[in-house]
Amino acid sequence: MGVSGHVVDLTDRRALAEWRPAPPEVVAQARRLKEAALLDFGLTESAVASWLYAKCRHQVPTTAVETAAVVASGDGTCLLLYNPRFFVAVGLAGVKFVLFHEARHLLQRHLFAEPELRADPVFRVATEVSINHVAMVRLGRTGLPLLDGEPVGIDPRGIHARYVADLTAQGLDALAYPDFVETDQSVYRELLRMTDPPVPAHRCLHLLPGGVPADQETVDRIGSSVLLNTLLAARRGQALAERELLDLLDRTDGASERATRLWGTLGAGALRGTAGATRRVDWWQRWLVDVLASKLSEGERLVYPKKRGALLAALGQPPTLSRRGPVRTKVLVVAYDTSGSMPAHVVEWLTELVGRIDGVEAHWLSFDGVVMPFRPGERVYGGGGTSFQAVADHVEGRTPTAEGRAFEERPDAVVVLTDGYAPHITPAEPEKWIWLITEGGDDWPDHHTPQMACHRVTTGAS
Ligand SMILES: [Zn+2]
Repeated sequence: MGVSGHVVDLTDRRALAEWRPAPPEVVAQARRLKEAALLDFGLTESAVASWLYAKCRHQVPTTAVETAAVVASGDGTCLLLYNPRFFVAVGLAGVKFVLFHEARHLLQRHLFAEPELRADPVFRVATEVSINHVAMVRLGRTGLPLLDGEPVGIDPRGIHARYVADLTAQGLDALAYPDFVETDQSVYRELLRMTDPPVPAHRCLHLLPGGVPADQETVDRIGSSVLLNTLLAARRGQALAERELLDLLDRTDGASERATRLWGTLGAGALRGTAGATRRVDWWQRWLVDVLASKLSEGERLVYPKKRGALLAALGQPPTLSRRGPVRTKVLVVAYDTSGSMPAHVVEWLTELVGRIDGVEAHWLSFDGVVMPFRPGERVYGGGGTSFQAVADHVEGRTPTAEGRAFEERPDAVVVLTDGYAPHITPAEPEKWIWLITEGGDDWPDHHTPQMACHRVTTGAS
């Protein structure tokens, strides 16, 4: 395939499907391989890749791409494009490698969006080296997938050998392979020391500027959502998610200002027990992510037995629901006290956080003496008096809102943003309540009987 330009628009699903389609039996086999690969990611191999592909609503077999690509289509969605002939030719092991590779690319675009990095071909090669190194370690491989006996992609050890030869010829010391590939930054930094850094042509579209359509807004939305959900899974005790996220954090944190900021915003430093003292993330935000993770925890996710999944895949049944598990949507109520002054950035941050958590249905309420539903972003008007009991009466189904609508859900968690000044209450299910108390407020739920989850929010300049 020519390297400049595509035969069809890579975001046009119909055109992609219609472009010289592969025979139906090849498409069917490729689809089975893809499903089996995604199932394995969810069960044992990559929480990050599993989350990412769960978010690719359209997964399109097309011969318009040579291998595979995750495309951010500009309308807010991500597409997975894969060449069915290629998938069948490289087999399940190859498909997993390629899908892991593509998932990682999207996160790289999220973490490293700096135009000067993106424009640098050495950086693009370094990214390939890093991604393929991680893929081999994570998937337990000793080499790249083979297509007709030829390795597919950039071989990290091959690049390292060229690097050693180049530096030796310059009379410079070269790093051994483990140090060379230790972080994404180390690969890039060391390649820049070469007289003649590699800029090889190969099959991955990511080596070409503009090779894969990916608007940064969609990439960032999906990327941050994938990282947040992986973090929540890690905090709920999923060892796979925790190991993978820590590894990604260690590889990329500090590599660029943006990457450091993104990890800081996520509060992921808490995972490795360092406070990240210089970060702008407040403790209450980390605390809330933790508490929400425990309140919204599943127990039922990924209970799908692997053997049965593999059997279904072998029988040609798409194991569609299996990688997510039979998960009930969690109901989260956020109640916002309009009698005091609630800093806008706290509400904004909370809105964004809640919006990125998968499988959660959020109900937003404002309250003073009465309860009113609102949409985040809408202006809310405070009235007289404050009543926590009004919130409890509403979410426990006893009283409708001022608009006359009753609450019919059973919430899994209730977050209350307030200054705390109103008569104390004991809700029916106090273990579900999370109180965020503004500066100067009264944190009575912390020493109430029974005690409830409670934290002060810092609302200083931000
Ligand atoms: Zn690539």
